[in-house]
Amino acid sequence: MGNSDLLKPILILYVGTIGIGVFLISHFYISVWNIVSEDGHFLVDLPASEELINKLPVIIYEPYLNLWNKSCPICLVEYEAGDSLKNLPGCNHTFHNVCIDEWLKRKWNCPFCWVDIWEEDVDNYLKLTDE
Ligand SMILES: [Zn+2]
Ligand SMILES: [Zn+2]
Repeated sequence: MGNSDLLKPILILYVGTIGIGVFLISHFYISVWNIVSEDGHFLVDLPASEELINKLPVIIYEPYLNLWNKSCPICLVEYEAGDSLKNLPGCNHTFHNVCIDEWLKRKWNCPFCWVDIWEEDVDNYLKLTDE
C-alpha cells in the first residue's frame, strides 16, 4: 500500500513532464514549418531593401490623375496637388512617399491589400513607363 501511494505522484510528475516536452517540441516544429510555405518562400515579414524602396515609381499628385485611391491609406489624409506619392506596381495602390517608406522598412507588402511586392513587378513597371 505505502509503496504504491508513493509511486503515484512520481508517475504523474513523470508523465506530465513528458507531456509538456512533447507539446513544446511539436509546437516548435509546427511554428518552424509555418514559416516556409510549399514553394519555399518565407512567410515571415521581411523588410524591403533600401535599393528596392528607391526603385518604386514616384508620382507627383495632381487632381486630374486617375489614381485608384485619392487619399493615403496609412495616414488617411487626402492627397493634395504636388504631394509626392509612391505607387506599388503589384496592386496599383498609392501612398505618401514618407508613409510608405516607413512601412516598407518593416514589411515588404502593400499595407492596404497585403499583396507582396516583387522585384520583377517593379522592373516590369519601370520598363513599361520608360517606353
Ligand atoms: Zn500618408
Ligand atoms: Zn495594394
